[in-house]
Amino acid sequence: MKLKFLIMSILSLAFISSCSEKEVSNKAFVLDTIITINIYDTNITQKEKNKLIEESIEICKDYEQKLSKTISNNEVYLLNNSNGNSVTVSDNTLFLIKNSLYYSDLSDGAFDITVKPLIDLWDIKSENPTVPNYTDIKNALESVDYKNIEITNNSVTLKNGSQIDFGGIAKGYISDKIKEYLLDNGCNSAVINLGGNVVTIGEQEDGSSWKVGLQKPFSSSGEVIAVINIIDKSVVTSGAYERYFEKDGKVYHHIIDPKTGYPSTQELNSVTIISDKSIDGDALSTSCFVLGLEKGMLLLENIDNVDGIFINNNNEVFTTSGEGKTFSLDLLEK
Ligand code: AMP
Ligand code: MG
Repeated sequence: MKLKFLIMSILSLAFISSCSEKEVSNKAFVLDTIITINIYDTNITQKEKNKLIEESIEICKDYEQKLSKTISNNEVYLLNNSNGNSVTVSDNTLFLIKNSLYYSDLSDGAFDITVKPLIDLWDIKSENPTVPNYTDIKNALESVDYKNIEITNNSVTLKNGSQIDFGGIAKGYISDKIKEYLLDNGCNSAVINLGGNVVTIGEQEDGSSWKVGLQKPFSSSGEVIAVINIIDKSVVTSGAYERYFEKDGKVYHHIIDPKTGYPSTQELNSVTIISDKSIDGDALSTSCFVLGLEKGMLLLENIDNVDGIFINNNNEVFTTSGEGKTFSLDLLEK
């Protein structure tokens, strides 16, 4: 009975609340994923809520154009085709590159936006992905090194043939931008969900915490393993199950270890980060996934106001010591 109730409350992010006259939500397909914005604020008119949601989706589309590696002539494209020449980039791109480099240093290279040649090689999003041959992986690895990124003011140079992919950090950054926009426009109660990258504003109308479902890894029916209770925080998950293919009984997922060129072979199924800023959560969830349980935990315990939930291959759940302080967790399964 309890299980049923809790699952209902998670779905309230999408369903129960949609019965409320005060809540307005909308969905769109952007950034290769479903994005949903729900606004609950009672001080904003329905019309205004619709406008804010529409504008939030536009912000998302705009950043997708600016940051996607597959869209011609944006700054990422120019950088990736610069042949070692410097490119002057906007403050937004610079901010994202600097943050990426910060997390590369912090994670000892586990997080590295220069993994692009490997991501292209594995091509996990394609219809029939295959395991690349070792020579190709070795060749691709040669240009993978975040230290190849040089910055002078707004000028960025990618040395040694490096190319970049913001896939491990962009959704967090864009969610923060949408939150900023909504707050600037007087919205104090909302949930922004960019394909599971969940950012909450304030608390629920009745003063209670938001309830975010933590997906059971590899569950085909979208089962929930636990409920995370948070107020005004971001929750980001990196999971092996999010994008993967199987070959000879082995799972090949989309998070690449920049040191080996292969999907990280850690004992983890997923890492979830609870933080104030989603850009931090996004970079850290990818970092910790590659680092694994022990090193990932250690990293998080040394960062203030950031917590993590690790799920290993046996679907056992491990949390940082901030549980009960920055978030609480209701486990549905042992
Ligand atoms: P996430 O779901 O946030 O963990 O991001 C995974 C995405 O980030 C992948 O689909 C790649 O585009 C990119 N990526 C994969 N491995 C890494 C890595 N080690 N460092 C940075 N980005 C990565
Ligand atoms: Mg990430």
